[in-house]
Amino acid sequence: MAAVQNKTEVKHYQIYVDGGWSDAADGVTYDVVDPSSEEVIATVPRAGRADAERAVRAAREAFDHGPWRQTSAVERADLLRMVAEKIRERAEDLARLETRQMGKLFADSLIDMNDAAHTFDYYAGLAVEQHGQTLEVPAASMSMVVREPIGVTAGITPWNFPVLMAAWKLAPSLAAGNVMILKPASVSPLTSLELAKIFDEVGLPKGVVQVITGPGGEVGDYLASSADVDMVAFTGSVEVGKHIMRTGADNVKKVGLELGGKSPNIVFADADFEAAIDGALIGIFAGAGEVCSAGSRLLVERSLYDRFVGELVSRALAIKVGAPLDESSEMGPLVSKQQLETVQSYVEIGLKEGANLVTGGHRIDGGGYFFEPTIFIDVDNDMRIAQEEIFGPVLVVIPFETEAEAIRIANDTIYGLAGAVWTKDVTRALRVVKALRAGITWVNTYHPTYSEAPWGGYKQSGVGRELGTFGLDEYQEVKQINIDLTDEPLGVYQHGKEKPAPGKVVPLSERRPFARAEHAGESWVGSCRNCR
Ligand code: NAP
Ligand code: MG
Repeated sequence: MAAVQNKTEVKHYQIYVDGGWSDAADGVTYDVVDPSSEEVIATVPRAGRADAERAVRAAREAFDHGPWRQTSAVERADLLRMVAEKIRERAEDLARLETRQMGKLFADSLIDMNDAAHTFDYYAGLAVEQHGQTLEVPAASMSMVVREPIGVTAGITPWNFPVLMAAWKLAPSLAAGNVMILKPASVSPLTSLELAKIFDEVGLPKGVVQVITGPGGEVGDYLASSADVDMVAFTGSVEVGKHIMRTGADNVKKVGLELGGKSPNIVFADADFEAAIDGALIGIFAGAGEVCSAGSRLLVERSLYDRFVGELVSRALAIKVGAPLDESSEMGPLVSKQQLETVQSYVEIGLKEGANLVTGGHRIDGGGYFFEPTIFIDVDNDMRIAQEEIFGPVLVVIPFETEAEAIRIANDTIYGLAGAVWTKDVTRALRVVKALRAGITWVNTYHPTYSEAPWGGYKQSGVGRELGTFGLDEYQEVKQINIDLTDEPLGVYQHGKEKPAPGKVVPLSERRPFARAEHAGESWVGSCRNCR
């Protein structure tokens, strides 16, 4: 692979804790590698338990005793807008760094920076729009609901969308008034540390955001287990998600989990052919398939199957795989050697299972972790390559005869993240979409994602939602406040006073204004109807 890239000096980064920059307590560092050239591009602290403890202490202090709790939503919104502005100002540099550390196309990285900036703007807007409730209750009481921050939150992010996943967690968490410790994936930590610089520059109080780099098994595990962390928001694999849920159970921690999928992309024979072909390719080969919502299972109606597969294969063969900073490239490398080996091993599994490999299946020679766009056809949905998340440019194609069969196959998975339907029949589109057990669905398109719409999965694809108003709810506690309006004792233990018989309704004409219970009724609901 002719990677046309400038040699860069190896830059050293530091972690951001309590408003300051430092190395790991033990001084250990590790290398960050550009997957398209296999060059070391930076070194970062390999933070450990001591650093994680320090980050949690700083966050706890900032939440419990710092000025952040006293900020108004308007002030927090201003800060978030400044973050958005700075991301936009530096979008090209951030995008270049994102691409260098994890291999996605530069154009895609630029889209991520735009989306991340928009996420901060969106939650800046929501921060001031969100409000509580006042409730009509059957008593002389003013009853209301207020929203409050949860406290110390931790964001643990994957390597496929480093800045965007950080934004999806930081923006709603801070908008709601929480503090956050961000632990980016070890292979791609650099842009999260650049984000920390932005938070530092906009003048966030110290301790409100910390970014620490280090192994998930140490730093991430501590964040999930610490009793001083009130919530963990995690995006990554199902295994680690389950582990975080179990670890967090010890102190009944709130967890948000986004765990990937094996999403069905369903093409009916009446679909717009060109659009569906394009959507099938984008569904799996965008981001080299390293996308949790990838349309990795393509279901095609039998009567269209041969024609569709023929065109799909010839188009996949034409995809230009190359250096992700090169504007003419259409697919970049995989993130790491380990991911390359995982993808390679699934190709072998598919061949052993008897699936028909029609294109791709190999690493591309010449350096870098480049892999061919790969398609298996005539796949049985029970095969491992149809059931397990490969997280690479490997598409499995499954034929179906009827709408009912398509729905059955689509839902026959432990996952439920996303799914799409291609058809010109609007009632069929709605029927199928409603039948899909998945949190994100598309009709006649694949992948568009909006900060305004909730993102998350059914079944083992996760717990909770990110983005939208739902995403802000996740970072808030709700508190009910009941204010008695009578200035009188509850009366239950006031011996010698006359008490109406429980259950006896006092006629409206005899009730006092703000009548209240002065009897030992069984229940307060409706009890004021008994009061004089
Ligand atoms: P992963 O192991 O789940 O890692 C995701 C994040 O969790 C990283 O920051 C990781 O840190 C951290 N982590 C790892 N072990 C942890 C632990 N015991 N406690 C707390 N945090 C921990 O995912 P991966 O290794 O990057 O990728 C493996 C597979 O996960 C992929 O092949 C794919 O199937 C899936 N995945 C899904 C998504 C998604 O968007 N849903 C994204 C990425 C990957 P380290 O980086 O230091 O290990
Ligand atoms: Mg891992």
